[in-house]
Amino acid sequence: MNESDFRKGTASVWAGETDRFLNGATTTPIISSVAFSYDDLDEWHAVATGKADGYIYSRNTNPTVHVLEEKIRFLESAEAATSFATGMGAISNTLFALLGPGKRVVSIKDTYGGASRLFLDFLPPAGVIVTLCETGNHEEIEIEIAKGCDVVYLETPTNPTLKVIDIKRLSLAAHQVGAIVVVDNTFATPINQNPLLLGADLVIHSATKFLCGHSDAMGGLLCGSAGLVKKVFQYREITGASLQADPAYMIIRGMKTLELRIERQNASALIIANYLKVHPAVEDVFYPGLKSHPGYDIAKEQMSGFGGVLSFALKGNYETVKAFLPKLKLVHLAASLGSVSTLAGPPKTTSHVELTEEQRALMGIPESLIRYSVGIENVQDLIADLEQALEGLIS
Ligand SMILES: *Cc1c(COP(=O)(O)O)cnc(C)c1O
Repeated sequence: MNESDFRKGTASVWAGETDRFLNGATTTPIISSVAFSYDDLDEWHAVATGKADGYIYSRNTNPTVHVLEEKIRFLESAEAATSFATGMGAISNTLFALLGPGKRVVSIKDTYGGASRLFLDFLPPAGVIVTLCETGNHEEIEIEIAKGCDVVYLETPTNPTLKVIDIKRLSLAAHQVGAIVVVDNTFATPINQNPLLLGADLVIHSATKFLCGHSDAMGGLLCGSAGLVKKVFQYREITGASLQADPAYMIIRGMKTLELRIERQNASALIIANYLKVHPAVEDVFYPGLKSHPGYDIAKEQMSGFGGVLSFALKGNYETVKAFLPKLKLVHLAASLGSVSTLAGPPKTTSHVELTEEQRALMGIPESLIRYSVGIENVQDLIADLEQALEGLIS
């Protein structure tokens, strides 16, 4: 069987790791060497000038890191992939490599808090024209794209209200004006959604989340055509936001169970969303797998599972959230998401901590909102935990 024929569960385990490792090792070795030596100066020169494959210096490429890049490349059906120290490293290097003075980017208001900061605070001083549209309003986004732009930057489902963007539809609009479509696929993971197959040009992951899956390593990944990935890679070689071999190994190890974890988290999140939806202490539940969710039809079309993250608003205000969250036993109250253990927190202290209360309100993020990233625990235990904490709110 060819590597290119692997189904996702097989690619998660084997992709990038089918060659025999040193001494017959059965897992990828952590090669933490900074530099790689050559006896033959001509060979060294050929590798250094990109005329032959090989490694020179780990800020640029590293054999352990390369295995991870290969794994995501297969899972996203991409021609090429590269990596970064964090997800924000991937987002910022990609945007700064593709944009510049006089260039225009069209995006949505609900991007990840850090990406939002790039659009609001860091790209405009670099001369980039930034237009942020209402997240659910595809017509408005299409109108802005049609005015002409260089990059269309999307994220779906979004953080923290799980809005869904039609990747195919907006990629068509973007390509009519020659724009490059970049999609942050962190929430969906390649198990549930493959943006490149829906027409996007580049896909980004914060590997810190579901790909690593254990909240113990950070990384960022970028996949797409060889030409576009090379352009960003060459920028990253110089900015130095490179991924190290140790976290790369942790992410590789985490990714071996990616399909198993995501199948479990998809199933548990749907059960929990349905449970919360009818609970008297809950005002609203945001999960694209609920038929009542405005993005359900698009999600059903472009995703094969609805993901492990949901959010819900309690009846009440931020004080209610402060009373409720500490009662939960089976969660870490912490930033981040996509781990084997359930994580929860309000956007006010996690994803959107960078924004003011007014900015959050403008984005439709209620102050009583809680983001809940479902882990791989037994779902009945998670529901029992939610039940005891919610009960306290009603009495
Ligand atoms: C966490 C996250 C990021 C940033 O990733 P880091 O690894 O923390 O830099 C980007 N996009 C989304 C959707 C995220 O959840």
